[in-house]
Amino acid sequence: MVGKFRNEPVLDFSIPENKKKMEDALAYVKSQFTREYPLRINGEDVKSGNLFKSCNPANKDEVVGTFHRAGKKEVDMAMDAALTAFEDWKYFDPEERGILLIKAANIMRRRRFELNAWMVYETSKNWVEADADTAEAIDFLDFYGREMLRLNERQPLTDTAGEFNKMIYIPLGVGAVIPPWNFPNAILVGMTSAAIVTGNTVLLKPSSDSPCTGYCMMEIMEEAGIPKGVLNFVPGSGSEIGDYIVQHHKTRFIAFTGSMEVGLRINRLAAATSEGQIWIKRVVAEMGGKDGIVVDSEADVEAAASATVASAFGFQGQKCSACSRVMVDESIYDKFCDLIVEKTNKLTIGDTTDPSNYMGAVINKASFDSISKYIEIGKKEGMLIAGGEGDDSEGYYIKPTIIKDIAPDAVIAQEEIFGPVLAVIKVKGMDEAMQVANNTIYGLTGAFFSRNKAKTARAKQEFHVGNLYINRKCTGALVDVHPFGGFNMSGTDSKAGGRDYLQLFLQAKTISEQL
Ligand code: NAP
Repeated sequence: MVGKFRNEPVLDFSIPENKKKMEDALAYVKSQFTREYPLRINGEDVKSGNLFKSCNPANKDEVVGTFHRAGKKEVDMAMDAALTAFEDWKYFDPEERGILLIKAANIMRRRRFELNAWMVYETSKNWVEADADTAEAIDFLDFYGREMLRLNERQPLTDTAGEFNKMIYIPLGVGAVIPPWNFPNAILVGMTSAAIVTGNTVLLKPSSDSPCTGYCMMEIMEEAGIPKGVLNFVPGSGSEIGDYIVQHHKTRFIAFTGSMEVGLRINRLAAATSEGQIWIKRVVAEMGGKDGIVVDSEADVEAAASATVASAFGFQGQKCSACSRVMVDESIYDKFCDLIVEKTNKLTIGDTTDPSNYMGAVINKASFDSISKYIEIGKKEGMLIAGGEGDDSEGYYIKPTIIKDIAPDAVIAQEEIFGPVLAVIKVKGMDEAMQVANNTIYGLTGAFFSRNKAKTARAKQEFHVGNLYINRKCTGALVDVHPFGGFNMSGTDSKAGGRDYLQLFLQAKTISEQL
């Protein structure tokens, strides 16, 4: 009997035992930096000989792991293995597939500190953010495992005389799973486990910025007993093998989370049929955001300021749900700006192996350069009131930056920056607040702060985002508590961690038998 799903609690690192375990894990992971990782295809190591390195953003010359890169040849090998494995896996008892995920969740609990440590080194997450990422990955395994048990139950249909009818859910085929680096454990595990538990087989291409964390998932699934060929690990450059995987005529679906540019490219390429293709490829694409918080004249300004700073600068602003624009009513504008500057200036920044640092480095040089460029644009578009500079001498550090007096259509109010930069926009009244809140091409998360019930009710109707939060921060969605996904150019609104999610990886078959 499998118990009810419960969210995995996060660790408290003020407890000396947890602190010691995390320090030990950091030391252990560091001792693994010289490791060279093969691809895993059909349950076996494959070495392409074409290597790339995963580096520590906080200490840019430090190599965290060296990986063999998949080319077209290895993708073809993985596709063959996945096609063969699909013939058995599709008929594998769905209950057993669900149990396998729940076993994997337990293995991940055992390796929790180690996984956290990989993320600290590979993505410069602080301890708490890294542990929340692992807790979410455990939740996905536990939740989707149970969801498969539910979907395996008899589905309700209306009876008709003289016939026996049933509808069952069957898998799609071989899918490509393409995650980002910013939730290197949770998102990779969530998309991969959903695809597998539903009976599909997978080519997993981790982000080139976080392959070590991805490799742990491969090891965990193998330890849990996944049959060979069901999950194939094919790291490599998205720009080199991404199109090939997406366009492959045997690819049945693509589960992608990442930027709008890449998501739209995948959607376009997947829509064109390749020679020999006999299906419409399904695309699940969760993309970028330009998430905002609205602070109404009747808000608790102190609470709104704390939530804005946490949403804007947690994990260096590199969450798809991060607050990058705040719309503040003119009546409380100055007070709010003073408060966010005061709170931001208290944030600690540095190497996150040291738990006293709240913010670490941004992911890589391209990101550092792009964020720095936006800061320069922002300085011309408004008034810099915090941060505004970076230092990439050792790692890719950027100070938490706030720019006020930004026009709603300014570049930094419209484009996803994906870094610690917050645009503050002054608005007058509820009409303007809602109009500005909705004036981007995205629609992922948003928050509304007010004590006024009528205005709150209006925000609930009009604020067009997939995840709307009232009087709290706009980051921190929990599995099966806040099913997650966005509108418009934020993607296909898949609602990861929700009860509709697994159906994206399934098709329904209705069987009617004459009695
Ligand atoms: P990205 O640059 O779009 O990369 C995402 C993944 O796509 C990586 O594995 C990348 O591989 C791969 N890729 C790149 N080019 C490809 C191509 N032509 N074909 C197939 N795959 C390709 O995004 P990112 O920088 O990793 O992640 C940040 C973005 O993700 C932000 O925009 C953020 O908002 C978004 N995000 C959205 C959600 C959500 O739920 N909506 C959640 C998290 C993040 P390489 O690493 O090898 O380039």
